[in-house]
Amino acid sequence: MNSAMARSWITTLASALEEQTDYLTQLDSAIGDADHGANMRRGFAAAVAAVEGSSAETPGDVLIKAGTTLISKVGGASGPLYGSAFRAMGKELRDPIATGEQLRAALAEGLAAVQRLGTAAPGDKTMVDAYAPALAAFEQELRNGATPATAAARAADAAEEGMRATTSLQARKGRASYLGARSVGHQDPGATSTAMMFRALARVMA
Ligand code: ADP
Ligand code: MG
Ligand code: MG
Repeated sequence: MNSAMARSWITTLASALEEQTDYLTQLDSAIGDADHGANMRRGFAAAVAAVEGSSAETPGDVLIKAGTTLISKVGGASGPLYGSAFRAMGKELRDPIATGEQLRAALAEGLAAVQRLGTAAPGDKTMVDAYAPALAAFEQELRNGATPATAAARAADAAEEGMRATTSLQARKGRASYLGARSVGHQDPGATSTAMMFRALARVMA
């Protein structure tokens, strides 16, 4: 991954979020406060503006810029969580061209940042339930000798599977946890946007 691909990851994700704003809002209206679509759209539109205007020379610089923007522009839980994830990934990608192994390390740091900040474990019905299986799949594919492109595609598949599996879970973190057992039967909005993040990465790596 180079800086152009990192920019493209942000812009590809931003357009997907733009397209799915109403869907994400609908998911968040069932178990939250109906702002996830708007939070993500606004945050990533600002991130696109920030990274398009920057002369960042490494993929890390691009992702740090995007992450910082998300933290400053999004008020909800998702802004700091995604912002910290992108900043943590960026800190791992300081060479002009990142190898598959460097991208793996970056994705791992991104998840660690989300879990440090949000203290969610797998099964708590959050972003982590899409992110953790995606990272595991990415790692497994690289170990099996797959290209980063294939690893990213399998990671996106695993993220979507994890996203769908949140429906049957009871939320233990975030606003949805206030609903207790009534959170069961609804797909988690943040896991859904995280699956979109991995699908965008797969498109850019392909
Ligand atoms: P808010 O809940 O502040 O309105 P959003 O609606 O933008 O923020 O984001 C909600 C999503 O954030 C949830 O669907 C969940 O995936 C994620 N989330 C909330 N709290 C946490 C947490 N502690 N750890 C990980 N993810 C979380
Ligand atoms: Mg919300
Ligand atoms: Mg909110």
